[in-house]
Amino acid sequence: MTDFQAVLNSIYQDAIQATDKGVVASYIPELAHVNKENFAIQLRTATGECYGVGDYNKLFSIQSISKVLALSKAMSLIGEDIWKRVDVEPSGHPFNQLALLEIENGIPRNPFINSGAIVIADILVSHLKNPKEDFLNYVRELAGDASINYNIDVALSEQSTGFKNFAAANLLKSFKNLNNPVDVVLDFYFYQCSIEMTCSQLSNTFYLFANNGKCLQNKLHITDRQVKRVNALMLTCGFYDEAGEFAFEVGLPGKSGVGGGIVALLPDHFVITTWSPGLNKKGNSKLGMQALEQFTTKTKQSIF
Ligand code: GLU
Repeated sequence: MTDFQAVLNSIYQDAIQATDKGVVASYIPELAHVNKENFAIQLRTATGECYGVGDYNKLFSIQSISKVLALSKAMSLIGEDIWKRVDVEPSGHPFNQLALLEIENGIPRNPFINSGAIVIADILVSHLKNPKEDFLNYVRELAGDASINYNIDVALSEQSTGFKNFAAANLLKSFKNLNNPVDVVLDFYFYQCSIEMTCSQLSNTFYLFANNGKCLQNKLHITDRQVKRVNALMLTCGFYDEAGEFAFEVGLPGKSGVGGGIVALLPDHFVITTWSPGLNKKGNSKLGMQALEQFTTKTKQSIF
């Protein structure tokens, strides 16, 4: 049997000695203060064991990782109708690129680039009674943890500098792919991205995608078929324009965020979360990607 703790410990030793830890995102001013020496990995297996090393109980901003949770909530609300408004192809471009959206008449390439996530946010704003409160409660329910919260400073910080997201939302509106007012949708979107979690909480939250749609409390939130779709999208679109590289190196569906978090999973086996705030040139956590490559290589556990 694999000694998971020993594997995580050895990855940790390599990571803390790395000389190049990437660059912390600064386009959201509040994120620029985070110390890039933080490093964590946490693993939750399908059989209920948990292993962790480093700062796995420290909170960080999950940012784009929240897009997967927003998508799963939207799927449970309106099902297949989502795909009339958002496509399911990798974009091959940065997460905030606008040119493709214009060329493709306001249909975002996928729900994990910003324009796609803004359409999903619009769906949630239309279908949830109290969007911010209801979405937070959904996330708390998935995690089985009522302490999870928005970081309002981060949300407001992004609100004051998120010019490209305003541009994307306006473009969507001009193509009639946004039903609610731009500022209402973006207010929800910035809060959604500002959710903070520890690695342990994130592994718990994502457990349903490794467990056929059932969360840790064994409640069914989305169907098998929907889980298949979410995991396929994570594999093909979860890492900005580096999804191919992540599949090539790591071989798991997953999602990263500019806060330096990555969550990845092997259906029916485990969920693994890393956090290292320094990003590579494509916006993915530099050491987090390396750590996951080492994990799947050492344990021989990937979808391939
Ligand atoms: N809130 C961030 C943005 O919209 C999320 C980006 C990310 O984590 O990729 O720019």
